[in-house]
Amino acid sequence: MEKIDQWIAGIPQASSDAAVLSVFDPVTGQAYAECPRGTAVDIAAAVTAAQSAFPVWSALKASDRAQWLNRLADAIEARIEAFSRCESRDTGKPLGLVRDIEIPRAIANFRFFAGTATQSLDQSYHQEAGLNYTLHQPLGVVGVISPWNLPLYLLSWKLAPALAAGNCVIAKPSEITPMSADLLARTAQEIGFPAGVLNIVQGAGETVGAALVAHPDVKAISFTGSTAVGHRIAAACADQFKKLTLEMGGKNPALVFADAPAHTLKSLVRAAFQNSGQICLCGSRILIHRDIYEDFKKAFVAESSALKIGAPSDPATQLGPVMSEAHFRKVLAYIALAKDEGGSVLCGGEAVKPEACDGWFIAPTVIEGLPMDSGFCQDEIFGPVVSLHAFDNENHALALANASRYGLAATVWTSDLMRAHRMASELECGIVWINTWMQRDLRTPFGGMKQSGFGREGGLEAMKFFTEPKTVCIGVLPNG
Ligand code: NAD
Repeated sequence: MEKIDQWIAGIPQASSDAAVLSVFDPVTGQAYAECPRGTAVDIAAAVTAAQSAFPVWSALKASDRAQWLNRLADAIEARIEAFSRCESRDTGKPLGLVRDIEIPRAIANFRFFAGTATQSLDQSYHQEAGLNYTLHQPLGVVGVISPWNLPLYLLSWKLAPALAAGNCVIAKPSEITPMSADLLARTAQEIGFPAGVLNIVQGAGETVGAALVAHPDVKAISFTGSTAVGHRIAAACADQFKKLTLEMGGKNPALVFADAPAHTLKSLVRAAFQNSGQICLCGSRILIHRDIYEDFKKAFVAESSALKIGAPSDPATQLGPVMSEAHFRKVLAYIALAKDEGGSVLCGGEAVKPEACDGWFIAPTVIEGLPMDSGFCQDEIFGPVVSLHAFDNENHALALANASRYGLAATVWTSDLMRAHRMASELECGIVWINTWMQRDLRTPFGGMKQSGFGREGGLEAMKFFTEPKTVCIGVLPNG
């Protein structure tokens, strides 16, 4: 059994009650590591460590903090093989996906926010009412809570701006995928990252996560995860008027018009099934213009069925398992529900066992014939399952796309520029991709509308979230 620690004040340690949770390899379905279960006592110790580190860290020049973030990015890059292997083992994702895309994106997050640290948010105004200037000061100790689907990437997306802005952080990674956060803490210790600035407290959400949210000296919570947990966290934060940002679930539509460009098919299959559909931005409701519906459907089903499912270490593998046994059962239950709701399974629809893999694999599944108000089309399933729907015109496509309580992302596939603008303006979501998917400029705001999000991350939005603006007004003489 591999062993994972709590990292508090730079010191690896067990949970205060010595209890552990098993960590499973989704490829084999077997436990392979133990993660501290974590307690409120661990959180209290981490808060104390972070408070002690805060005066020195927050007083550093922004460029000095930027240097630390760049050093951390360099150290992850130097260990990219180790990070990739541990993340791939923990999640079952193809090694190539982790090594070529996800860990490099985590490194890019640290480098990007190192640069942002030195871009001032401060404003100044004069000649109206004295001389005013606004400082953006760090909040103090902040908590970041992340999910299992992109473990290091999503953690770094929060850690980097929080640290760059001068805060000390307590990070609570998902207990299902704790490995890369543990390696991050170890890496930080190896490069001499200041103790107590970055504390990683592992453990169960309902104990450690809830204790982090409830702690009165934790000034803000940045959460990514499900809408149900986000709801609970929002209620707990409201009691203390705690600053909060929530990145939650999605049920993203893809709108395919008859003039969609040639690369649409392959891009949409990737957008549906990358990481076995376990990306909040995956398109799971595919809306196709009626004129091309039958042809596009056939091609989509053929392309999806051809995806190679297998072990993460096999370079040919395109699709790994889903993340946990509970999640595996949930996705299969939704496929059964789709059948009950009148859907026809065009491909997949079942568990599979690739060679030498006993874990939680589900074949890419495409379903048609479901009404948009069915449970399958309304709930976030977060697996390798999509539904196809025909639409007649732009208004019909928009009505179907917006008929959701979620509002995270949408894709539009068309060669008509004016139509693309019309759709982008009317879609109820935080991100619209036109003829592309998952391209990200880190300067742009990131987040969702409706039950997908509250607040925004990314670029200066994140720096604003992790700081408190303070306006200072200096009186000047009338002729001054
Ligand atoms: P989850 O909500 O179950 O858990 C997320 C994190 O919250 C974990 O670290 C968990 O331990 C913690 N947690 C659980 N209960 C808690 C509580 N009561 N108080 C505090 N923390 C608690 O989500 P998940 O299953 O790990 O991840 C999948 C979900 O994340 C999907 O809904 C997906 O859409 C969403 N997601 C959203 C985005 C986005 O940017 N919008 C990105 C990735 C994933």
